[in-house]
Amino acid sequence: MLLGATGSIGENTLRVIAAHPDKLELVGVAARSNWEKLAGIARDFGVRHVGLYDENAYLAARNSGAFASGTMLVGGLSGLIELAQLPEADIVLVAVVGTTGLEPALAAISAGKCLALASKEILVLAGKFVMQAARERGVRLLPVDSEHNAVFQCLEGHPAAGIARIVLTASGGAFRDWPAEKLSSVTPADAVKHPNWAMGPKITVDSSTLANKGLELIEAQWLFGLRPEQCTAVLHPQSIVHCLVEFTDGAMLAQLCPPSMTFPIQHALLHPSRPPGVETPLDLTRLFSLEFRPVDEHRYPLLRLAKATMEAGGVAPAIYNAANEIAVAAFLEGQVPYLAIPHIVEHTLASIRNFEPAELAGVLATDARARQVARAFLSRC
Ligand code: NDP
Ligand code: MG
Repeated sequence: MLLGATGSIGENTLRVIAAHPDKLELVGVAARSNWEKLAGIARDFGVRHVGLYDENAYLAARNSGAFASGTMLVGGLSGLIELAQLPEADIVLVAVVGTTGLEPALAAISAGKCLALASKEILVLAGKFVMQAARERGVRLLPVDSEHNAVFQCLEGHPAAGIARIVLTASGGAFRDWPAEKLSSVTPADAVKHPNWAMGPKITVDSSTLANKGLELIEAQWLFGLRPEQCTAVLHPQSIVHCLVEFTDGAMLAQLCPPSMTFPIQHALLHPSRPPGVETPLDLTRLFSLEFRPVDEHRYPLLRLAKATMEAGGVAPAIYNAANEIAVAAFLEGQVPYLAIPHIVEHTLASIRNFEPAELAGVLATDARARQVARAFLSRC
């Protein structure tokens, strides 16, 4: 089951599925509104279960005649939840941008499905509750995000007590080599171009501010049960080493592959088997270098703020994530300048009292409040 099939992760997942028809079968797909693209995917892969979050798109799809007869079309969040629990699905891959995938992810867990998680925002919002649900139901959580999938590979067979820290690599994004003074003139068109990866617009902007790395550090803390100080980041412009794991004896293991999401997606979907990948592996007969640099947190305030929310715990990471989503969407729509993004996040964090949530409802209410606060601040940026 693939939720977010029309996006960048969705497309890469379809390439992996197409390359392994003997091992993987696509039983359902969902997206927000792009029903035309979904219809093409359903046709190409013989998929009979299709979901559209957007109700108008759902109605348009129903009336379009573009889906084969006998196709089960579902709409809205309830439709996504229904798909996540489809009896035919063994693995549910959630690649819906933002936090909309939370309830479908929880539904998949409660139905005992193996959950492959690309949407990092879900664990940042509700890591405590998602991990608890997975533990209680005995469900496996497979990381799809390249750095987390890399950590997962490096940790296999190693007891948790032997981990000193993990180091996630960051390319530094689109403006890594720009002088700081020039950042005030960044346009949405500049920010959606990534030097190494082809990804959706929100995550590409997050890569340039390093909010993406901040979200990933928080995600890693939940996935691997680490303390905040054990989750660190380093700049690595080539995006070939995806993580380093340092063990308590000082040895480090790293995971390397070209910067294409087909590698981690295939690993997650076919783990533990390793059939040939979709793309050519690294060619070590060609000259290339691997550089590592410390991250300058003055230049990337959103990484500093993310680390502060990890230390603070409670609902602080959820506030960070919600404010960042609002700020990035407003930037992409031309409502606020690029450099307003960290200010919106900082203002929202300072405006809402932190607490340790006893129930998911408390986190969801804080998420909604943070979005309100961030939206209200937009006109002041
Ligand atoms: P894209 O913007 O390319 O695609 C987003 C997908 O989510 C589309 O299929 C979109 O449908 C769907 N979608 C958006 N909102 C909803 C909704 N409310 N209900 C159902 N479907 C929805 O994003 P990416 O593929 O880049 O990223 C997806 C997730 O994976 C993000 O959380 C991102 O952080 C994470 N990720 C992405 C990586 C990458 O390489 N792209 C790497 C690691 C993690 P529609 O087309 O109809 O709008
Ligand atoms: Mg990543």
